[in-house]
Amino acid sequence: MKAVRFTEWKTKPSLREVPRPKPAPGEVLLKVAGAGACHSDVAVYEQFDETTAGPQLAPEYTLGHETAGWIEEVGEGVLGLTKGDAYLVYGPIGCGHCAACSRGQDTYCENAAKTPFLASGLGKDGGMAEYMTVPARNLVPLGDADPVAAAPLADAGLTPYHAIKLALHKLQGGGKTALVIGLGGLGQIAVQILKATTAATVIATDMKPEAMALAASRGAVTVEGGEGQADRIRELTEGRGVDAVFDFVGLTPTIQLAQKVVGKQGRITVVGIAGGPVSWDFYSNPYEAELTNTYWGTIEELHELAALYRAGHIEVDVTRFSLDDALLAYEHLENGTLLGRAVVVP
Ligand code: NAD
Ligand code: ZN
Repeated sequence: MKAVRFTEWKTKPSLREVPRPKPAPGEVLLKVAGAGACHSDVAVYEQFDETTAGPQLAPEYTLGHETAGWIEEVGEGVLGLTKGDAYLVYGPIGCGHCAACSRGQDTYCENAAKTPFLASGLGKDGGMAEYMTVPARNLVPLGDADPVAAAPLADAGLTPYHAIKLALHKLQGGGKTALVIGLGGLGQIAVQILKATTAATVIATDMKPEAMALAASRGAVTVEGGEGQADRIRELTEGRGVDAVFDFVGLTPTIQLAQKVVGKQGRITVVGIAGGPVSWDFYSNPYEAELTNTYWGTIEELHELAALYRAGHIEVDVTRFSLDDALLAYEHLENGTLLGRAVVVP
């Protein structure tokens, strides 16, 4: 079968022929419906190396850490799953038995140092192929929902969902505001999760007018970049400052914007992995304003997000690419010419 392989550090992925995998005990073989192309993949093949990323992310493997598909075959010991049923794949794979894994938070597995990979598509073969194997415990049912459009929920949806859930206490009550910086794959879904789960005014910004227009069509108040941007955002909060900022870029200027507009006791969550440094001292942020980062989410949260999706609260903006055109999907992602998410459909 064909697969998009990450073969060497600092090398673009390539389309290769690999054997169709067999499900090990406790696993299922999934016929892939769709696999999203995430900006983190670009960091994996363009930016990282053995020293910065470590052995778990070391090549060679098939990319694709946000996948959905249909059960094709079940491995030994797997009960209660039916061929043809559609599932989302929870990507992170920990040891499965530590306290973190037991609560469904494989992202913070306490035995991560002893596990050979991070996740499906990140160290272990992922979804940019015709088939993939997945531990049965990592499946989240999709029912009748379209698995191609659902695939990005596994990361572009789950990561903002987790970040928003941890900030929810800042957004409850009247007159609250949230700010979303960067309206790409993750940011567009973040706007919808905020609208579906809070009564807050959602302010959104991006350099691309079409990305802002899409966010505005879903009820966000958009504010262009440039001179006076922070003042315009503060005016929308009636001077109090933003209660929860979500930065899906993570460059120095975007985090600095967050620091300028956050209110007292507000929270800034940096989701984008650009790694822009900023300074902090006692006087630089308003009193009790928090600045934190975040990583992916739990399988329980993916079940909650799938429920929101199945109930029609979230639309995923998908541009489809065939497996033969998968490398083109990454090219568009790198060039910023996509609106929403590129999904590879084998
Ligand atoms: P994307 O390329 O789809 O979207 C990025 C968006 O940000 C684009 O719309 C772009 O126009 C906008 N943008 C870029 N620079 C900007 C700036 N200076 N000001 C305003 N807008 C700007 O990327 P994505 O796949 O949505 O990923 C977003 C970020 O989140 C990436 O850094 C990715 O690696 C990271 N990520 C983090 C996690 C995590 O667990 N923390 C998980 C997935 C992705
Ligand atoms: Zn564990």
